[in-house]
Amino acid sequence: MSQRVKRVVFTKEMKEEYTILVPTMLPMHFEIISRVLNRYGYKTEILKNTGDHIKQLGLQYVHNDTCYPALIVIGQFLDALKSGKYDLHKVALMITQTGGGCRASNYLSLLRKALAKAGYDYIPVISLNFVGIEDCPGFKLTLPLIQKMLYAVIFGDLLMLLRNQCRSYEVNAGESQAKAEYWTERIADMLSAGWVSYSKVKRKYVEIIRDFESVERTDKPKIKVGIVGEIFVKFSPLGNNDLENFLVSENAEVVMPGLLDFLLYCVYNTIVDSRLYGIHKVKAWGAYIIDKYIVGKQKKLISIIRKSSSFRPMTPFDHTRTLTKGYIGLGAKMGEGWLLTAEMLELVEQGVNNIVCAQPFGCLPNHIMGKGMMKPIKERHEGVSIVAIDYDPGATRINQENRIKLMLANAKAASLDLANTL
Ligand code: SF4
Repeated sequence: MSQRVKRVVFTKEMKEEYTILVPTMLPMHFEIISRVLNRYGYKTEILKNTGDHIKQLGLQYVHNDTCYPALIVIGQFLDALKSGKYDLHKVALMITQTGGGCRASNYLSLLRKALAKAGYDYIPVISLNFVGIEDCPGFKLTLPLIQKMLYAVIFGDLLMLLRNQCRSYEVNAGESQAKAEYWTERIADMLSAGWVSYSKVKRKYVEIIRDFESVERTDKPKIKVGIVGEIFVKFSPLGNNDLENFLVSENAEVVMPGLLDFLLYCVYNTIVDSRLYGIHKVKAWGAYIIDKYIVGKQKKLISIIRKSSSFRPMTPFDHTRTLTKGYIGLGAKMGEGWLLTAEMLELVEQGVNNIVCAQPFGCLPNHIMGKGMMKPIKERHEGVSIVAIDYDPGATRINQENRIKLMLANAKAASLDLANTL
């Protein structure tokens, strides 16, 4: 009979002296968020440990039919704890949670179980969420902190977008990545220095965009490849075997919808619930206001990108969410839900005809909203190619990369055919 694992509470006293370990997902975004949290008195550290042994370690402590993102995150935590780098009685772990209906809501207990099995049941685990999943006396999200975390996400998305649009065309190898790293540091400095006005934030957008405009680039066309999928394997280099770098090494331009869309998707689902089922009316009002506020910020950034540069901005979320009409209902909201379909359609609308859909093997929601939607999308959009790549402990990198190479080879052949007919 399985035993209930006790919860170790992260207390106010622990805040002073504990190091909080955070798993890798989006290196730039998380670096800025970590520095913001540190400004509010926490000592967070983003884990950078990587390697094949992490999934093996995950497999030792969680069942192999567990969602791959959970397995990887738990493996990365355990690897860090076993590294000897940390005082195990002064360390806590943090994971992000949306509180949705999917298995991700069980990641907390899976992690605690794995810690108990490994003999670390005294290590506290903090859930970073906006829906009050667990009360945690030592970790509180205040309004100013949430505001700064929101800016961290917006800046992270901007840096990712600019870097990706420069990187495959740069004349001096490594220049765009160096600029992205430079600005990650500067933005982290700015957001962790105290109160920041919105005018200052907007001026920073312009400075960053202009700096990336100065990257010397060739105008040789490249195949654009969009990445969508389950949020962890879509974004995390550890989860997707460094997919972005692989695509760049294959001479493609990576196009990736940002993290802000996922946050807006979570907010918008409360409004959808209220409309569909007549529940949570007060919450839905709150969500409506938050949605308007964040979409307003996203639109301002889009207009600044348009006005001050030749870069392609992100698609405004209030448009993205309309794209699923005729494909899937907004009530499909397990995991990445309808957002996954919407992001594929958003990419197609932007002219990105080749898409990698990164899916944890056995992830039912993503198979429905990702794989299940590929056929209708391809049927209604000629020339679109979508390939679903499974990520799990048994999938080999070589297989994953070969399937993507095949998609790229077909795309190159199609563009040559088109050039010959013109
Ligand atoms: S979306 Fe997929 S991988 Fe994520 S928790 Fe749900 S089933 Fe697991």
